[in-house]
Amino acid sequence: MCSVGGGDFCLDVEELELERYRCNDCGNTFDAIGKKVVCPSCPSENVVKI
Ligand SMILES: [Zn+2]
Repeated sequence: MCSVGGGDFCLDVEELELERYRCNDCGNTFDAIGKKVVCPSCPSENVVKI
């Protein structure tokens, strides 16, 4: 699947996929990347993937 252009970018691309999260503290929904996701509206890390 990594046949276009070559190079080492393929591994990074998969990690850049946005995932949808919801904050359990303020109810905000947002897109985020990474393992440690923090709500953009409040400092809470109490978020769940939806
Ligand atoms: Zn929040």
